[in-house]
Amino acid sequence: MQTPFIQNHQLNVIHKQADFLLKTMRTVADRKVLETVKGTAVINAIDAFDQLTTEQKNLLEQMSKYEAAYELQSYLDELEAHVIPFPEVTVKQIQKLFPKSKKLKTPDLASVDYKRTTYLRWMDVATNRLYIVYPYQGQLLGIEGQMTSTNKNGFCMFCNRHRELGFFNVKTRGSGPDQFASAGQYICIDDEACNHSITDTAPLERFLLAIGK
Ligand SMILES: [Zn+2]
Repeated sequence: MQTPFIQNHQLNVIHKQADFLLKTMRTVADRKVLETVKGTAVINAIDAFDQLTTEQKNLLEQMSKYEAAYELQSYLDELEAHVIPFPEVTVKQIQKLFPKSKKLKTPDLASVDYKRTTYLRWMDVATNRLYIVYPYQGQLLGIEGQMTSTNKNGFCMFCNRHRELGFFNVKTRGSGPDQFASAGQYICIDDEACNHSITDTAPLERFLLAIGK
């Protein structure tokens, strides 16, 4: 058994490439075009990683070896065995991350798909509070804020897909008069959809770090 090396957002990159490849397989008969698309798909998948062992690179290159859609699909299923899951987190740890929330509604941790989670998020529907937990440099970051539905579609700040958005507004700890008292982002309403779409963690990390917890 290999050590897991694929993070959820990198798996999303691979899925995105594979989807395009599947579409091409279905619609394009030209062999040359198909080979070019296969080559590009592999390059883009490899690009999502900072470093890879030869074995890991070979595994990603296998994406270009299939002729049938079902083969590519079972390859994608097999890749899940190589995914680094979101770290195990307990209710106690979560409570510690949000000390000010006295009636904190904690997530249903048993229902979380840890392998397909880049950031853990859940809503307290009674108060419209959205909570986010994200592992960063060996520790967990937690932020909470108000989530307001916009009933509009647009580009999510975290995953960059065009989807139904909510406005996530977080109060920050501004200490001086010239500091912002809140920071907001338009993000997906649907947490699972966002976690299945995010291909780059930089915008999410920038937002979480700017809030500074
Ligand atoms: Zn999103």
